[in-house]
Amino acid sequence: MTLAPAQFSSPSPQAGSLVRIAIVGRGFTGLMTAIALLKAFQGPFHLALYDPYPKIDGGEAAGRSASTLLNSRVRDLSIDPAAREDFRRWLETDDVWRERAASPAGNVDHAFVPGEVFSAYVYQRFSEALRERTDVMVQVRADSVTAIGRHPGGGFSVLSSDGQTRFDTVFLATGYGLRDGADCASTQGSVGEALVIGGGVHAVNRALRLLAAGEASHVTLISASGFLPQPHTSSAVGAVTSDRPFPHTLRGAFRYLREAANRAAAEGSGWQGIMNDFRQRARALWQGLTPDERRRFKRHVKPIYDSHRNRLPPGQYERLHRAIAGGAIMVRKGKVERIATNGVLLSTAAGLQVLPADRTIDCRIRLTDLDSPLFRALIAGNLVQRDELDLGIFVDRAGRVIVEPEIFEGLFAMGPLGLGSLPDIDLVPEIVVQAYAAAEALAASLQGAQTRNGGPPDGRNEG
Ligand SMILES: Cc1cc2nc3c(=O)[nH]c(=O)nc-3n(C[C@H](O)[C@H](O)[C@H](O)COP(=O)(O)OP(=O)(O)OC[C@H]3O[C@@H](n4cnc5c(N)ncnc54)[C@H](O)[C@@H]3O)c2cc1C
Repeated sequence: MTLAPAQFSSPSPQAGSLVRIAIVGRGFTGLMTAIALLKAFQGPFHLALYDPYPKIDGGEAAGRSASTLLNSRVRDLSIDPAAREDFRRWLETDDVWRERAASPAGNVDHAFVPGEVFSAYVYQRFSEALRERTDVMVQVRADSVTAIGRHPGGGFSVLSSDGQTRFDTVFLATGYGLRDGADCASTQGSVGEALVIGGGVHAVNRALRLLAAGEASHVTLISASGFLPQPHTSSAVGAVTSDRPFPHTLRGAFRYLREAANRAAAEGSGWQGIMNDFRQRARALWQGLTPDERRRFKRHVKPIYDSHRNRLPPGQYERLHRAIAGGAIMVRKGKVERIATNGVLLSTAAGLQVLPADRTIDCRIRLTDLDSPLFRALIAGNLVQRDELDLGIFVDRAGRVIVEPEIFEGLFAMGPLGLGSLPDIDLVPEIVVQAYAAAEALAASLQGAQTRNGGPPDGRNEG
């Protein structure tokens, strides 16, 4: 793939009239937004992709768990909303997967793949989409964005280490913040006791890998809520709808979920199908909750909800529970107050406690870093508004930023940045749908502006 050089050269008059779009963050969300724009946004445009992280690898999801399994099945990882089988078809261009698909036991749709495989797929689809668009100029910029403000001539000023550049539209796709490279995937020599902080799927992954590779003889897994991820079923299930009416309060919703799941378990069909259905309705439920109910959700229900939606592949779940039963992994519930060279300070129901360790690995997912210089500038400029739970910023379903009471045209916050407004927007299928909705919303808003200004109704900005 050929990408334009990292600097804007002096634009010709025609290049100066292109719609100028910036995407801040080149993780999965940023790349997915770029793909959706390349495929669905008509008319020439100029696209700058900012991220100081040197690789294009699908972000934290692929980078952290490059050689370990993602926790979604192949069937749920297509990045083409019109072709659910797209990822499987891509996999089957490889001999190993084609042979597996042809074998009696090999349902590729139900398989789990390593992060690096998914990353290669996303990158290839990005390259193909780019090749198709000879009218789009793309620049990969290796710098971080430190501030965004309104530009006096309209649009936005994007400030990076390289200076200030004007854009008509900006997509924020900064996910879990700047990547530091020292993530929980790095390896060292062998130790006795290791602490792994985090109760999510990649903390479990990391703990199992430490043991499997002989890098630690014992692992203590520290989960703040005490919950660990639940398993997927061995064969994929779809969304199973209960015959009871769906309630509209937090308490009612979780009673409904518990009863439906118990019934499904008694019938032998498992709770996963019920949960899949519940997740599809979660967004409507969330919109109807009061601020107090949302706060209660964050405090009391979110850890349980997360442990049932982010599931472990069945084999991994079994390995985890074998390791716990055999004493190789111990699970501790508590909040890590400090991380030191020789262990951590843990706050538990019984009080503060020091857990000594030869090695500590922090696998907690950071939420959107609203205290970073970029978000401080956006909030100070009244360009974005934090949601009431501090999970992210207010957005609509297309990722358009909402500064109450209205949508802020031209500024989008994609993927996990919108978690306070849109449940599950940190997952691949939801990010895919949002990216295309954003491309459509942008086209509609530019068309509206052109019509109002009497200009041509395509994606071109004559101004
Ligand atoms: C380990 C892991 C496994 C997962 N597995 C699955 C799965 O199996 N199925 C599923 O559906 N979902 C999964 N997810 C969730 C989903 O894939 C993530 O929510 C998604 O990857 C989020 O990507 P992102 O691009 O928004 O964020 P990130 O991956 O955090 O990427 C953000 C990028 O923005 C850059 N950045 C940040 N600040 C700036 C700045 N100021 N200027 C420039 N660049 C900046 C960072 O360097 C980074 O590269 C997983 C997530 C993780 C972490």
